[in-house]
Order: sequence, then C-alpha cells, then structure tokens
Amino acid sequence: MSSQTKTFKQWQQQANALQIEGRAYIDGQYQDSADGATFADISPIDGRLLAAVADCDAATVDRAVAAAARTFASGIWRDQSPVQRKNALLRLADLVGQHQEELALLESLDTGKTIHESLDMDMQDVQIALRYYAEAIDKIAGEIAPTSDSFHGMITYQALGVVAVMTPWNNPLMIACWKIAPALAMGNSVVFKPSEKAPLTGIRLAQLAQQAGIPDGVFNVVTGGAQVGQALALHPTVRVMAFTGSTQVAKQLLIYAGQSNMKRTYLEGGGKNAHIIFADTPDLARAARFAALGFCANQGAVCASGTRLLVQSSIKEQFVALLIEEVNRWQPGHPLDPATMMGPMIDARHQANVLRYVDSARDEGASIVCGGHADDSVVPGGHFFWPTVIDNATPTMTASQNEIFGPVASVIAFEDEADAIRLANDSEYGLTAGFWTPDIAKVHRVARQLEAGTVWVNHFLTRDILSPFGGFKQSGIGRDLSLHAMRQYGEMKATWIALKDVDAH
Ligand code: NAD
Repeated sequence: MSSQTKTFKQWQQQANALQIEGRAYIDGQYQDSADGATFADISPIDGRLLAAVADCDAATVDRAVAAAARTFASGIWRDQSPVQRKNALLRLADLVGQHQEELALLESLDTGKTIHESLDMDMQDVQIALRYYAEAIDKIAGEIAPTSDSFHGMITYQALGVVAVMTPWNNPLMIACWKIAPALAMGNSVVFKPSEKAPLTGIRLAQLAQQAGIPDGVFNVVTGGAQVGQALALHPTVRVMAFTGSTQVAKQLLIYAGQSNMKRTYLEGGGKNAHIIFADTPDLARAARFAALGFCANQGAVCASGTRLLVQSSIKEQFVALLIEEVNRWQPGHPLDPATMMGPMIDARHQANVLRYVDSARDEGASIVCGGHADDSVVPGGHFFWPTVIDNATPTMTASQNEIFGPVASVIAFEDEADAIRLANDSEYGLTAGFWTPDIAKVHRVARQLEAGTVWVNHFLTRDILSPFGGFKQSGIGRDLSLHAMRQYGEMKATWIALKDVDAH
C-alpha cells in the first residue's frame, strides 16, 4: 500500500475517523499520570487539538521503571528461547504492517510530515528494523577466546536490564524502533519516552506490542517533556539511556548519568553536515537534485541534512541555478495530500527560529536566492516555511555554523580539494558528509579525511539498516542500525573456566 493509492480527500476522511489514545502505557495497561496532569498535543498542520496526553509525574515514571525492572528480574522475556522472542518481534512487525496507514496518519497529524514520508518511508523502516533485529536474535553467537589449554574462555553478551529510549519529534516511530527493537531483541525491558511533540505512534505501538505477545511490563511508554526525560536519566534502576535529540540535551544526559548510576548513555545528537560539489561532478543537475532533497526532505528536520553546500567556485553560479530549479519543486502543501513534498514546521516557535536564522544570514551579508519566508496561509493554523537557499555565505556566519533543522541551506564557495575538506571539517558536529566526483582516487582520499560517521559519495541521504548510523565529535556517542547497534544493548562478559589445576601467583 502506497500513499499514492488514496486521494487527499480519502486520507483526510481516514484521519478524521481515527481514535486517538493519549495515555501512558505501563505494565500492560493504558494509565493516566498519577497526578492526573495532561498536556495538549496540537497538530502542526492546522493547530487542531489531537489529544490530551498524559504528562507523567515522577511517581508514574517510577511505576514504569519498576514494571520494567520486575519483568526483567522475572526472566519472563529475556529467558524465553531466542526463537520465541524472535517470533514475538516478527509478529509486532506484521502488526505494524497491518496498521501502517493508521500509524502513518497519526505520525503525519502529530508532526506535519507528509503522508508520503510517513507511510512510504518511516513505517516501512519501522518494520524493517523490527524484522532485522528479530532475525538477529538467533543468529548472533558469542566467541571462544583463544586461551591456552588450561582454560576455556567465553565472551558473551547478556541483557543489561531496564533500557530507557528517548527520542525527538522528526521521525518519531522510526528512530524509536531503531533502539527499541535491538533493546528488546537482546532481552532487555524498555521504558520509552517519545517526544512530547509527537507521542501518538509510540503510545499506539505499546498496544501492538502486547498483541504481538510481548509480556506486560516488558515494553512501557511514558509521555511528557523534559521532566520525564530527566527522571529517567537520573533513575538508579535504568541501566541504559538510548537517546536521539539535540546535542545540548545529549550533554545534559551525560551529566545525569554521572550524577546517578553511570548508566550506559548512547547519544545521537545534531548535525551541520557538509555536502561538497566538486567541479568535476559529471552530472550537475543530478547533484542539484540530491542537494535539494538533502535539505528539504522532512521539512529539513533531518539530523543528516546537507545544510552546508560547499561548491567549487568555478561551477558555483551554474550549480546554484540548477539548485533553485530543484528546490522550487519542494513547495509547501497539506501533508495529507499525497502529492505534497513539504509540510509545516513543527510549531510557531520553530518557524520563528528558522526565520531568525535566515534573517541573520541576510544581516551578515549573504543573499537569499530562493524562499526565505514563513507562510501561514498554506493551511490555516499551520506554520509553513518556504525552502531557502542562502548564497554567498561564509563559513563563520550564524546560519553556516548552527543546526537550523528547517529547509535552509547555505552555499559556501571553495577553491580546491584541501579547502573543501578543511571547510567540511570546520564544525563541532560530525554526523554525515557527502561529495560528488568521478575520480576514484579522490573518492578514497576525501572520504578518509572527512570527520563524519557517514560519508556519501555521488548520492546523498541514503540509509539502510545494514550499515551503522551515528556521529563523530559532538554529533554523538554510539550507533543506531546494523549489528553494531545491537551489541550496545548487551553487556559483554568474559568467563574463564580452569580446565586444569592452575597455580595461584
Ligand atoms: P530535543 O533534544 O529537544 O528533545 C529530544 C528528547 O529529549 C525529547 O523526548 C525531549 O522531551 C527530551 N528532553 C528535552 N530536554 C530534556 C532535558 N533537559 N532532560 C531530559 N530530557 C529532555 O530534540 P528535538 O527538538 O526533539 O529534536 C531535534 C534534534 O534531534 C536535532 O538536534 C536533531 O539533529 C536531533 N536528531 C538527531 C538524530 C541522529 O540520529 N543523530 C536524528 C534525529 C534528530
């Protein structure tokens, strides 16, 4: 089922018929916060109230952690045979598939992302992650250490206990499942805190997990904002904090880990990624298409976005003209229209922030050659922004240095290869980077020198479960995706068994 098989009207009708659940999910039951508090979950599309969502207090977070700890200690999940756990996660993937339209609509209403992105991309990636880690359960084995004949040495991984998963609003269920799936696959119990700006699919996933046969208390969802995140991050029973969000909050989580129980803290932070267009790029129009996608996809709310477009000066004029043509395809529209490529900003505050960055570039001497303005008329009540190209930017401008998380890219000219690499690495972030060239030696030379967790050559923004994703420098610690990520959710143990009488020394 693709987003294109229904009309705008049909998607709207289906959205209007949704039953939306806003309570937390603890120990197999939907529950209000102990103090009864809620917050309003507003759709960025038109400002409509979607649900009153539980604003969990500390007592409620404690209850969720206690349920997870109890089920972990009981062995009800981790001691199931690998095949049983695998089948439960595969059933969950199937259920997500069966409910993918409902989940995609919830996500589009909650975040403003297009139905095309929600259904054709995110919900597919959710199923892929669940299946991948389910299948890994009975295929990853431990190791035998190459000891002398006096010993048998085993290296094994075992579940850690209670894993807290905390996520941002831009790809809510997909990013969550990149962590929930490997955490559950390793036998841990999970307490998931979705972003307060996009909690609905996480809340719904909990019920599907129960239907799939994951025992009550093994997967819990607590909703709310920073106070819930803080309670989890400081909790002495939580063994892992698996986080995606801003670098600023990521750093705070490291402090909380140090102040509490030194929980393993895996952090996927922000990015200000370089996308380099060398003069020898054979097909500049193709590079321009990827460059536009690279900062316009998902309204620019993508950590991996290529927002620093480094363009060799000899082709800059030609490239910028092609880029503007491509960017003009990304016009804001209603996210439930399957033809729409760009939805609204997540809220008015974010829209104002994006505008401030664009204004700062103008004030600092750059030229806005495309877009550059907010627009509240696309859908009444929504906060849209026209995709923006900042030309003649310098590397030190405010908009060139900071993550904007909106559809805005700065074009910065460079002279030669060394200059491009220096500019690309001139950032405290190091999440992704990309470049275009047909020269194979240059491919290897440049790729090696880029300080980024992912490097794309002759394409941009491609990702797959089979390869790790994460950042250098202040973009993060640890990785999502691939078997490398799965290891993070297990504790490594070395067991030495004496096979002969060995002397003490
Ligand atoms: P955010 O850091 O504001 O929030 C992320 C989560 O942390 C939310 O659940 C929020 O409630 C919680 N939180 C906020 N303040 C907290 C505090 N003081 N203590 C504990 N918890 C707190 O991020 P956001 O605005 O939701 O998302 C945008 C950011 O996420 C961008 O910086 C983007 O680059 C980043 N991101 C990174 C990746 C990646 O894979 N590296 C992917 C997507 C998004």
